[in-house]
Amino acid sequence: MRCVYCGSQRTVKNGKSNQRKQRYLCKECERIFVENPERRHYPDYLKKIAIRLHTDGVEIAVIARSLEVPYETVRSWIRAEGEKAIKKIEGRKKAFQSKTFKRAGLDEMWTYV
Ligand SMILES: [Zn+2]
Repeated sequence: MRCVYCGSQRTVKNGKSNQRKQRYLCKECERIFVENPERRHYPDYLKKIAIRLHTDGVEIAVIARSLEVPYETVRSWIRAEGEKAIKKIEGRKKAFQSKTFKRAGLDEMWTYV
C-alpha cells in the first residue's frame, strides 16, 4: 500500500478505522491513512503553491508532505499543469510557423519582381 501523503511504499497495517476500513501507518512520514481515501477538494491556492514548488524543483513527495495533500493529488495537479503548458507552447509554435511562412512567401514574390 502506497502512502497517500508521501508516496512511500514503507507502510504497515495499523488497525481499522471507524468506517471499518483498513488503516495504514507510513514509516516514512509517520502519518496514518485509510485505504481508498475519499476524494477531497483542495483550495486553489494549495494547487498553485504545489505547482510553484514543483517548478522550483521541489520533489512531489516533499510537496505532498508539507502541504498535507495526498501524493497522487499533487501528481495529478502537476500532470494537468504540464499538459496545459505543452498546449500553450504548441500554439505559439504554430503561430510562429505561420508567420515565417507568410514572410517566406513574400520574399519569394520579391525575387520574381
Ligand atoms: Zn508517508
